[in-house]
Amino acid sequence: MYFILCHALGAPRFTRPRCHIHDTLPPYYMHVAREGALKIKVAPTMSSTILVVEDEPAIQELIAVNLSFAGHKVLRAFDVAQAETLIRAELPDLILLDWMLPGASGLTLARKLRVDERTRLVPVIMLTAKGAEQDKVDGLEAGADDYITKPFSPKELMARIKAVLRRRAPQLTDDLIEVEGLKLDPTSHRLTGNGQQLAIGPTEFRLLHFFMTHPERVFSRGQLLDQVWGDHVFVEERTVDVHIRRLRKALEPSKHDVHIETVRGSGYRFTPLIPKA
Ligand code: CA
Repeated sequence: MYFILCHALGAPRFTRPRCHIHDTLPPYYMHVAREGALKIKVAPTMSSTILVVEDEPAIQELIAVNLSFAGHKVLRAFDVAQAETLIRAELPDLILLDWMLPGASGLTLARKLRVDERTRLVPVIMLTAKGAEQDKVDGLEAGADDYITKPFSPKELMARIKAVLRRRAPQLTDDLIEVEGLKLDPTSHRLTGNGQQLAIGPTEFRLLHFFMTHPERVFSRGQLLDQVWGDHVFVEERTVDVHIRRLRKALEPSKHDVHIETVRGSGYRFTPLIPKA
């Protein structure tokens, strides 16, 4: 479910407007957004974009319906070529990949994804009718994060997806996180610091969610843009600095702003350990 806000860009200072282009936009807005005449904000949601690569229509439909019902955005492909086209246009958060596909196999795609810098970290779950031990080994060696043997129940599939996302992309799950009295609840979009409600904007919320689920790691502005804004979004790197400033301001009332560290020459880091002055 997406809530879309569109603002016509009056000011010429927006030379490269932030453009979240989303499937749920009516065609006119899609067009205008591509032309750069609209600034479109998609409200944050913990749903993920999941690519389903499956050549059996009935199974593809069953998976897609279940994923949509769970609030995910679903991209569908019947073969590797279609999947590659979709991935070029938008990097999915997770790929469900059938092993036996017409033409190139799912295993071939899994291997290709792992060597490409852009797709290297996208979680992959292989789907297959094969249950043999060697196939599981091949799949995992090709870089798959998990392996589901057909037939599987939708419940099992959803549980596996959640487990893989929790491991590989925890900022996409809706688990409540608490660090040193700072409590972030993705379900209710609430943030509290030592029990005090903190006012925070949607982008800062997503940024903080990403930081809190990846503590002690330094991220460059480019990496933060890819991870928090999405890799098909065109935003200038200094936009990150603006949102970091706003984030620190939002965390000031409970003094949690000290957790957001600037790492000179590299970027930013969330550190749970409060540095002693
Ligand atoms: Ca198949």
